[in-house]
Amino acid sequence: MFQPETTRFAPSPTGPLHLGHAYAALLAHSAARETGGRFLVRMEDLDRGRCEARHAVGILEDLNWLGLHWDEPVCRQSERFTLYSSALESLTRRGLVYPCFCTRGTIAREIAGLAAAPQGPDGPLYPGTCRHLTGSEREARLAEGAAHALRLDIGLAVQRLPAGALCFEETGQGPEGETGLINAQPALLGDLVLGRKDLGVSYHLAVVVDDADQGVSLVTRGHDLYSAAHPQRLLQALLGLPVPRYRHHPLIRNAAGQRLAKREHAQTLAALREAGMTPEQIRRQLGLG
Ligand code: GLU
Repeated sequence: MFQPETTRFAPSPTGPLHLGHAYAALLAHSAARETGGRFLVRMEDLDRGRCEARHAVGILEDLNWLGLHWDEPVCRQSERFTLYSSALESLTRRGLVYPCFCTRGTIAREIAGLAAAPQGPDGPLYPGTCRHLTGSEREARLAEGAAHALRLDIGLAVQRLPAGALCFEETGQGPEGETGLINAQPALLGDLVLGRKDLGVSYHLAVVVDDADQGVSLVTRGHDLYSAAHPQRLLQALLGLPVPRYRHHPLIRNAAGQRLAKREHAQTLAALREAGMTPEQIRRQLGLG
């Protein structure tokens, strides 16, 4: 007997959905339906500068056209700042978060000047520049009103955790074939930004708060977010949140073997629909017939 799964499809409405999104949405939907569970849709529209209402509308039209129905009203991150702020405040009160005044430029120069910059799966990591500021340096910058992000002090956070490994269950596969019970590497992405300079919150913070708040039991998403599961597991432990299981899946690629991008018009669901393709044909093309 399967446990009923609550899954979610969590697009950022920065462009139209393409075949890769259809694959992700169909997988999340069938994981819920096959177990008699719930399928949810969450608009990850925190970044007001990049997200557009017309894309959010188009995404829901595309999902309907694909024959997917969600079991709760669509959750919109842009309406949930209070929830994220209180999670961030609880980490700040415990001294786990520090202000970071660096710009992209200062970070790049700092990294270029290091003999061995710390490396993550996608390149060099934040070298911890502002973690080393003294209390009075920090206060002086804050008093000047200097723009800053808020970063999690990963080293300190890990020390504060109760003894024992941080694990998560991967029921799909990471990009290197990782599967089963995975020992999380919380420092994989370095000192995460939890509060962006421009927004006050960040993707990593919002996603763990939302998955817990919505009762998501199985997070299905692309390989590109496998490394994010590691520090997200740490955030769940720090915030005392339940830990979902994960099912990362391969990304759909175009004929040239590249990952589909939102700007590739030919592969958008709207273009495929206009060209006469049916939802059944889309499913078959994606190997989900
Ligand atoms: N909003 C993210 C995206 O569109 C997905 C986040 C997640 O599934 O954790 O790639």
